[in-house]
Amino acid sequence: MSANKSNGTDVTLIYGDGIGKEVVGATKKIIDASGVKINWHVCEAGAEVFRRGIASGVTDETLESIKKTRLVLKGPLETPVGFGEKSANVTLRKLFETYANTRPVREFPNIDTPYKGRGIDIMIVRENVEDLYAGIEHMQTPGVAQTLKLITRKGCEKICRFAFELARAEGRKKVHCATKANIMKFSEGMLKHAFEDVAKDFKDIQAHHIIIDNCAHQLVRTPEDFDVIVTSNMNGDILSDLASGLVGGLGFAPGANLGTDIAIFEAVHGSAPLFAGKNVINPIAVLLSGVMMLRHIGEFEGAQKIEQAVLSTLEDGVYTQDVHKNDGAVSTTEFTDAIIERFGRTSTFWSSRDYKKIKMPLLPDNRKYVPVKSQKVQGLDVFLDTEEDVMVLGKTLESLVSDLPVNLKMIGSKGVKVYPAVNGLLPDMVDHLQARFMINNDNEMDHAMTMEVMSRVASKYNWMHLERLTDFDQVPGYSKAQGED
Ligand code: NAP
Repeated sequence: MSANKSNGTDVTLIYGDGIGKEVVGATKKIIDASGVKINWHVCEAGAEVFRRGIASGVTDETLESIKKTRLVLKGPLETPVGFGEKSANVTLRKLFETYANTRPVREFPNIDTPYKGRGIDIMIVRENVEDLYAGIEHMQTPGVAQTLKLITRKGCEKICRFAFELARAEGRKKVHCATKANIMKFSEGMLKHAFEDVAKDFKDIQAHHIIIDNCAHQLVRTPEDFDVIVTSNMNGDILSDLASGLVGGLGFAPGANLGTDIAIFEAVHGSAPLFAGKNVINPIAVLLSGVMMLRHIGEFEGAQKIEQAVLSTLEDGVYTQDVHKNDGAVSTTEFTDAIIERFGRTSTFWSSRDYKKIKMPLLPDNRKYVPVKSQKVQGLDVFLDTEEDVMVLGKTLESLVSDLPVNLKMIGSKGVKVYPAVNGLLPDMVDHLQARFMINNDNEMDHAMTMEVMSRVASKYNWMHLERLTDFDQVPGYSKAQGED
């Protein structure tokens, strides 16, 4: 981790796109005025870099700077909507393995919301590098797309440990783990199980599991009941935007992406191109991301000074146009100066927390993270691109393997068994069918048998995807289709 030295802490600064120059500029001005000594290294990423043909949206100079400073304060980066280019934000988060995205959601003084006075004060911890954001996608047929949802036990343990460590560092009492484990028993279930295991090491913190949809419902009804919420990448993305809406919107939603030794601080919001260059945008989200950065490097006093000045400014009824349009709103630059003028003031609105540095979890470095005693391939799911009637398809596949110690257990369509059909019912079918072959003796579906089955299937059908059905320590590592015994 970058050390805060007497001659200043080195930080890579990325202004970003759209409103970035204004909000990051305001943040830099306020931090510099606070007396905390930061050596800013201005670097590039985002739209202009994409325009120069760099598909990651991040230059080599920027990557080199981050490797050295290990700290980044950044503005929003536009993501080109098209094919080929990756999000520069996701590139940075993944390359530097900043696996813990933390987003505080706290009520602000004088900001009218339906929740005013309820004392909302939540930390949302979103796993930041796994899940659907692995970005591994394939067109299975011209009309069927697939995204891989990759969840690892190690990733789950890291993010759960981090959530508990954060709760301890901020003196919080409760952690909810929000998952969809009731439907995705392996992927989301892995997060739930890891959470339950990790919770045993943090007896001082209450641990609760909650289904993600219920969590969204409860967040809208009784947000004050939540303290820390830990969740997977996609669920956290949605939940954290919802939560920022409870306290005044994206202008008030800061964030941090933390890894074992690299940290990237940025607001939740994007480049808001409609407001770029108009000097009207709210800098609080990026500024409070900067405050999170100061706490991360141990500059607790400077962080407190800036945070208190922000609260005092709002208490005095000074705000940008996202709070009240056409009603006394000041410009971004006036708002920035108003904050600096209030250095030294203390607000009574937030009870101040006794922040400590978060103890980042250190997990073993081995790739094979979950050892097993036995591993046996029991069958194959062969995904076929075909419009053939399923009765004909089923009979043909059965005849293709009739002399092998293999049986066609079922054919599925979008996770529903359609052969043999359940009560003669068929769902709306597409050209993407899952043929499940199981070995019917004590042997394994070894490579030779797999090749034999595949060559027979491929002699008649176009297949596009293959999964091996494996038992780990005698426990099946594959789901059943609806209606499958
Ligand atoms: P957005 O930039 O977050 O803007 C959506 C709306 O939220 C804005 O129109 C704006 O006004 C409000 N808003 C955002 N920031 C605000 C602030 N600081 N103060 C006050 N209001 C604020 O979302 P988007 O339009 O969907 O995305 C634009 C681009 O940003 C896209 O290219 C996207 O990929 C990128 N993006 C980048 C990041 C990142 O770098 N981390 C994150 C999200 C999006 P109203 O509420 O009045 O409409």
